[in-house]
Amino acid sequence: MSDTIVYVLALDLSADEARVRRAEIEQWLTGEGLFVRNPSHVRPRDSGEFLAGPTAEGRITDEWLNGRYEADILCTRDAYTAYELFEPPPCPGCGSPLDLERFHELLHAWRQDAEPSATCGDCGAGALLGDWGWEFGAYVAELAVAFENWPELRDDFVAELGRRLGGRPRTIMCRY
Ligand SMILES: [Zn+2]
Repeated sequence: MSDTIVYVLALDLSADEARVRRAEIEQWLTGEGLFVRNPSHVRPRDSGEFLAGPTAEGRITDEWLNGRYEADILCTRDAYTAYELFEPPPCPGCGSPLDLERFHELLHAWRQDAEPSATCGDCGAGALLGDWGWEFGAYVAELAVAFENWPELRDDFVAELGRRLGGRPRTIMCRY
């Protein structure tokens, strides 16, 4: 069975900022009952540190949360990608997709260093790679909140979480 993970993440945070923000995000999510700690989560590297809390239904999703929905707050510099759903991002100017090989070169460079810019081969527009934004691409980020096999998240919740994460908020829809 495949897994679908939604990552809500923040570009532009330093590692230090991400650590501070992670603690604030955890305090907000658990303080409001949106997440609870998963009692069966023991090994730090395993996923599923949190479960949907008593107030998640109606605030995070509109669906009935009858299962054990797992979540994580990931504070590690990584490339978060759509995997099976991946398609190269469309130009923010004309919508033409970025060359796949070029995208992977730029993503690799981003993992090593600062966020690169990409120039559209069709219209010539240039933008930071993270502004070639869409949910089936990939971003390098220091902080992300992962929702594992949840029903559709509410737009207002995703917007609030993005605002609290700081930086430029982005969403990735991942399947693998
Ligand atoms: Zn273009």
